[in-house]
Amino acid sequence: MRDHPLSWMQRALCAVGGMPADAWTERPGDRQWGSTSDHKAAICICKRCPVQVDCLEYALALEANEGRSGRSGIYGGMTPPQRLKIQQQRDKKKGRTSA
Ligand code: SF4
Repeated sequence: MRDHPLSWMQRALCAVGGMPADAWTERPGDRQWGSTSDHKAAICICKRCPVQVDCLEYALALEANEGRSGRSGIYGGMTPPQRLKIQQQRDKKKGRTSA
């Protein structure tokens, strides 16, 4: 029997607790993605998460047709601007133009 495509989420460290769930999101007053202590702590957790690659690829797939404004949250240890850069690099390799 094959695993559900999103079964990796069951191993997500961000789901374990210990950090406020909104540490992975943008809050009113946040100046820059990744600059708050909560964002930095969340990114540290992501870097030791066993499903970091799955998470990052999930977000990149969801956001494939989004520009800067359509991206939100930290996924796979990466902020929205970092993921946009990855998407643009991938699109460039494929000869596509990112939004
Ligand atoms: S990489 Fe980060 S956001 Fe993704 S599942 Fe792991 S802890 Fe959560």
